[in-house]
Amino acid sequence: MLNDRIYLAPPSVGVAEISRVIAALESGWVAPVGPELSGFETDICTITGARAAVALSSGTAALHLGLKAIGVKPGDEVICPTLTFAASAFAIVHAGATPVFLDSEPTSWNLDPALLQSLLIDRAKHNALPTAVIVVDLFGRTANYGEILAVADQFNIPVLVDAAESLGSQYGDHPAGSMGNAAVFSFNGNKIMTTSGGGMFVSDNEELVEKVRYWSTQSREDLPWYEHNEVGFNFRMSNILAALGRAQLERLPDIVAARRQVHDWYVSELDGVAAANVTGDPPWGVSNGWLTTVRFDSEHAPGGSTRVRLALEAENIESRPIWKPMHQQPVFADHEAHLNGVSDQLFAEGLCLPSGFALERLDIKRTCQTIIATLNS
Ligand SMILES: *Cc1c(COP(=O)(O)O)cnc(C)c1O
Repeated sequence: MLNDRIYLAPPSVGVAEISRVIAALESGWVAPVGPELSGFETDICTITGARAAVALSSGTAALHLGLKAIGVKPGDEVICPTLTFAASAFAIVHAGATPVFLDSEPTSWNLDPALLQSLLIDRAKHNALPTAVIVVDLFGRTANYGEILAVADQFNIPVLVDAAESLGSQYGDHPAGSMGNAAVFSFNGNKIMTTSGGGMFVSDNEELVEKVRYWSTQSREDLPWYEHNEVGFNFRMSNILAALGRAQLERLPDIVAARRQVHDWYVSELDGVAAANVTGDPPWGVSNGWLTTVRFDSEHAPGGSTRVRLALEAENIESRPIWKPMHQQPVFADHEAHLNGVSDQLFAEGLCLPSGFALERLDIKRTCQTIIATLNS
């Protein structure tokens, strides 16, 4: 008899969400317009400090239109971290541009500012600067914005922040998604909070947000008939899902606290296990604890990540390798990539551990006992 399955990151949806969705259905606003939709946008502005926000059908859609809004055109090049979920890079392709991949720094696992600087210095010499930079906050840990934004400013290149994984995190005193020229959140089912599927584009530049809002509703002009001066998209969020989002957002502080607690339990359970290194917050920020990640260093535990993942699966515990870098993906095989070895090593050694809201100390104990037994075998 197997124990109950422990999932990686199940959504946490309860009575508050259910009654809010029912109320939205009963209100008659069953459309991509309505009071919950505008309310959700206002709520996100309050939490992130952004001046304006527009709710969309997915984080990928938000990245796509966000790139377009900050000036990315077909044929352009956009810098993208190689270590990310593929949607960051796919959005660049959707916008007609080409991603140029850059490796990570080892502290937060995000875009390496030193590599960014050397690439931009080189490109400036050849008068071939990229149009924009996407920065990603992986697993809830914010990137090194102090250094990244200084470099981007020096070359006057706009920065779009992919904060799909970092809602509720901090960079210093700044909420995740408040750095750069604009930012994007995702409310997919496995993220820190969910609308079952959805996204948000935020910026202090209201013009960018209005541009995205316009494109996302089929570029419809304000006329009695359907008049279009530009090609549009059908990317707006539904009022029903926005109701779910608002109920989730009210619980975000509790969800973040629970996930950070899970992370801290892993740290204590794996304390003294030399081969298993639970990733901590970077010195510049506080993570939302979306997913706890661990590294099994290849010297103490060769193949540790795979061995542990299979052993956990045999115990009915879900874990997952960290994102496979884009330069290793067949779809991007012929793309330019500037590497330093960090993302390759992280992919070989890293594992995402169960990090759900409802996990209890005993679940973490059970998981860690399997990890320790595997490393000792
Ligand atoms: C989930 C995710 C996205 C895509 O968001 P969707 O809402 O699923 O389209 C983009 N970037 C990163 C880093 C993500 O984790």
